[in-house]
Amino acid sequence: AAAAAAATEEPIQPPVDVKYTKLLINGNFVDAASGRTFATVDPRTGDVIAHVAEGDAEDINRAVAAARRAFDEGPWPRMTAYERCRVLLRFADLIEQHAEEIAALETWDGGKTLEQTRGMEVPMVARYMRYYAGWADKIHGLVVPADGPHHVQVLHEPIGVAGQIIPWNFPLLMFAWKVGPALACGNAVVLKTAEQTPLSALFVASLLHEAGLPEGVLNVVSGFGPTAGAALCSHMGVDKLAFTGSTGTGKIVLELAARSNLKPVTLELGGKSPFIVMDDADVDQAVELAHRALFFNQVCRYVHDVLRAIALLATSFDSFLWFVLEQGQCCCAGSRTFVHERVYDEFVEKSKARALNRVVGDPFRRGVEQGPQIDGEQFKKILRYVQSGVDSGATLVAGGDRAGSRGFYIQPTVFADVKDEMKIAQEEIFGPVQTILKFSTVEEVVRRANDSPYGLAAGVFTQRLDAANTMARALRVGTVWVNTYDVFDAAVPFGGYKMSGVGREKGVYSLRNYLQTKAVVTPIKDAAW
Ligand code: NAD
Repeated sequence: AAAAAAATEEPIQPPVDVKYTKLLINGNFVDAASGRTFATVDPRTGDVIAHVAEGDAEDINRAVAAARRAFDEGPWPRMTAYERCRVLLRFADLIEQHAEEIAALETWDGGKTLEQTRGMEVPMVARYMRYYAGWADKIHGLVVPADGPHHVQVLHEPIGVAGQIIPWNFPLLMFAWKVGPALACGNAVVLKTAEQTPLSALFVASLLHEAGLPEGVLNVVSGFGPTAGAALCSHMGVDKLAFTGSTGTGKIVLELAARSNLKPVTLELGGKSPFIVMDDADVDQAVELAHRALFFNQVCRYVHDVLRAIALLATSFDSFLWFVLEQGQCCCAGSRTFVHERVYDEFVEKSKARALNRVVGDPFRRGVEQGPQIDGEQFKKILRYVQSGVDSGATLVAGGDRAGSRGFYIQPTVFADVKDEMKIAQEEIFGPVQTILKFSTVEEVVRRANDSPYGLAAGVFTQRLDAANTMARALRVGTVWVNTYDVFDAAVPFGGYKMSGVGREKGVYSLRNYLQTKAVVTPIKDAAW
């Protein structure tokens, strides 16, 4: 009832105007070649926020041509690395100066709480940019001691024009993860944003130009996947693709790359990440962490949250305290909560209470933990999964319905008695639906956790070092968080095993995606030297 009441309040007027709705091509904001636009919608109400230029194949051609010119002839790859570093540093400063506006835009377009966008995401974008700025003048090759009288150098050169496609759940962060390393390495970029959330990337791209980025180096095309997205993947003038989104679309992206010019592809895809609670767990802490691991995509640093978190988690976890929750729209959500049989009943009871206490409402309102889902399609899909959980015999212990009567709000939902073979335990729901499964031994839970086509992340909650170490090694996933969850640091690689992805982003690993390796072999005339 509390959730429903919160979600029916009058929406707060967002404290920001929409300035940029056109495509950014060659340093200018321009209409789509077709003249078409599409509506981007406020998930709180379903009302139109703005009509945005709808790019398609012809606009991708224009954007790739601009990026090619900027890369092949333009100043960017030829500027000193220090100059590129300084552009990215100025960009980070501008992000901080415009933090309020950027955060409000992201909340309005995507429904995530202002506490999360302002308190975590915008500062993280500035942090990532400074991290990549720091790499710009530290990328260098090797001299290799080859057999015979040869001097052999290995050069690391920018790969060229990078095509990048991002999803709606973290539009700004995905911008930073992708554009940051590409530019630091001296590449040009064509970025295709998600059709649900085109606004924040256009805004920050304008700041990047204000920071001194030459025209054509970053082009942003708003538009749909099968038109603009597919054209970018197939383009013969694109040298590399980076994609974040669903596993199904990732396969299409890879296929289009292979059918065109075999451009290398990195993929960050879906997940069904296990969160494992051992029998030695402090149940209150485990419940809170598991709750956040699932429902996250709403973060904040507001005092009441920090105090609550500190009081609760005083001893064992640190950076995680930053994270409150969102609406479960996170690729690495801890979406299979495995709980040891000895603490299972208590865990379920307390998880139910926590979900019922979760504050759902207008993401602009202070203290709200969960905003609306992104759009009507996701909203309906999540409710279909809830129905499937009920039909397959799982026990619905909390939520299970929409919250309020308009917009795309969903009640925090918890299922107990979930079995591995149920659809809700196998498929990515991408919503605020926790599924709790029971286990008895470490061997059993590792086997069941690994029995998934996905392998993005896992959480392990225990004070037993041996159990934590065993599981950290045995789990076939790209990240294992032990006694914490959702800690994202610019320097730490992120990506998936199995069908959760190809390659890694963030950290030094992300640079490899945007560099070519060239061997230069020269005879040494005087062998004595
Ligand atoms: P999606 O695959 O539908 O869309 C992602 C992007 O791909 C959008 O920009 C879309 O327009 C584009 N696209 C769609 N069809 C295309 C096509 N045929 N050719 C080229 N581009 C196309 O995914 P979504 O529903 O928007 O995003 C949610 C998914 O993203 C979830 O599965 C989530 O797990 C995943 N995700 C993964 C990570 C990660 O790092 N692993 C991070 C965030 C989100």
